[in-house]
Amino acid sequence: MSTEILNKILDKPTFKEKDRILIGKAFAVAQEAHKNQKRSSGEPYITHPLSVAYFLSELGLDSTTVAACLLHDTLEDTSLTHADLEKEFGKEITFLVDGVTKLSKIEYSDPSTSSGQASKKNHTDHLNSLKKMIFAMAEDIRVILIKLADRYHNMETLKFLNKTDQKRIALETMEIYAPIAARLGMGRLKGQLEDLAFPYVYPAEYSEMMKKAKNKYKDVLGYIDKTKPLIKRQLTDANIPVLDMHSRTKHLYSLYQKITRKDKDLDKIYDLVAMRIIVPDIKSCYEALGVIHKYYKPLPGLIKDYIALPKPNGYQSLHTTIFCEK
Ligand code: MN
Repeated sequence: MSTEILNKILDKPTFKEKDRILIGKAFAVAQEAHKNQKRSSGEPYITHPLSVAYFLSELGLDSTTVAACLLHDTLEDTSLTHADLEKEFGKEITFLVDGVTKLSKIEYSDPSTSSGQASKKNHTDHLNSLKKMIFAMAEDIRVILIKLADRYHNMETLKFLNKTDQKRIALETMEIYAPIAARLGMGRLKGQLEDLAFPYVYPAEYSEMMKKAKNKYKDVLGYIDKTKPLIKRQLTDANIPVLDMHSRTKHLYSLYQKITRKDKDLDKIYDLVAMRIIVPDIKSCYEALGVIHKYYKPLPGLIKDYIALPKPNGYQSLHTTIFCEK
């Protein structure tokens, strides 16, 4: 299994021969260093750094970062030293691995287990200072990306840990790492991290949401699939070049938050499934919106211009909610 993932990384067309040599060497060194260790799942430890490396290679990161991913736990968990790494891989990779190691020493305190009655305000202050500390200590954005990918894989394999660790790690993910992903504009990762944490942090609410939403998602997805070609034709007829159209479903935790925050029922949530239309430039965005509103009446108050008014993380797009077919 390990070699299969390694080959997938090495096969990336953006990597040149020297990149493949570097990644292959990092893999060999990491595998040797972790050789007697196992994950809680019982799998060889190397499956973890390999998954982290694969995740970031899929996002298009360079070979230096991918090599650092493979080595990210060696300083903390193996006998390899700073000097060993620097000798084999140079300053940059060592700096990245060192950065990830430092971040793991930042201590998060779970509000439910911390001594005394930690007030809500104290906990919010604690979270804000942790997030600031993470950005300050990381120095390099790649360190944070490795940490996020590391957390993603740890969340995927959280079921193998004991209950106490599960709860603490899931809560930390929800309160620290998902917001960091959001801040970096990594909306999908934010949603994935929250959804992985949701069942551990709020188990009862999670099963409730699952029960309620499961069939709903299926219905609306089917509907979107039917509507997509229609809208595509309307746009093409109006000479708007459509680069891509895809649907996204609202992540379960984000749906739960919306329902709780706005005290709404599921039938009044209009963005359970949304269609994304990608066009080449800003002018085409406004034109596409115009065409869509020509065919379908928008719901008042739900047209949002995030191009003129970007979200704090830089996100820009136009949103609308329409009365579509039927
Ligand atoms: Mn790790």
